[in-house]
Amino acid sequence: MDKRVVLAIAATGVTVAFLLGRTAGAMASPREGAVPALLPSVFEQAPQAPQASQAPRIPIAFSVPPAAVLVSGVGCDSVEGEAIHIHAQLQIYFNGFSIPLPAGLGFTGRCTYWLHTHTDDGVIHVESPVVRTFRLGQFLDIAGFPRFGSGAGMIAFVDTQDGKGFREFDGDYRDIPLTPHAVIAMGIGEFDPQPFAFAPNQ
Ligand SMILES: [Zn+2]
Repeated sequence: MDKRVVLAIAATGVTVAFLLGRTAGAMASPREGAVPALLPSVFEQAPQAPQASQAPRIPIAFSVPPAAVLVSGVGCDSVEGEAIHIHAQLQIYFNGFSIPLPAGLGFTGRCTYWLHTHTDDGVIHVESPVVRTFRLGQFLDIAGFPRFGSGAGMIAFVDTQDGKGFREFDGDYRDIPLTPHAVIAMGIGEFDPQPFAFAPNQ
């Protein structure tokens, strides 16, 4: 289970390379019922590059730390926390491509980070033993997703389920709070945030 998936996506002159180096054999919690695939099949279904590009590659890695270390203030426990159990959904776009979030992010095999994914539909589980507002950047750090500075052109939209739909987030995308049923779309280039229907038990 140490395979690596390298997927290169070229679009509008920019090539984005995804390096998936984490082992994805972590177990989902029994009550969630979802066991992540060995490798997220979504990566194999991603659109292929229309043509090779001379553009520079941007390596993006999802790599969950192998041990129980605190990441951006988020702990990792042997059982999922129960003081908070809420869900948000995340969509990531790069230059017209949708970048699926793999299942099993936040599982190390020894512990489960308070922010994690069970499935590959972008649902982020916030299951914490402490009551606190968690933010998108904390999840992205656990996922090993690179930080994009203010010059990268990263924008984000959030549907907080207040009936007003998606609105652009005014501020650093990493500061977006992971509130119940928030639907977050972040990306570089043009993209259309998609509505998301949470499961009844979410
Ligand atoms: Zn959950």
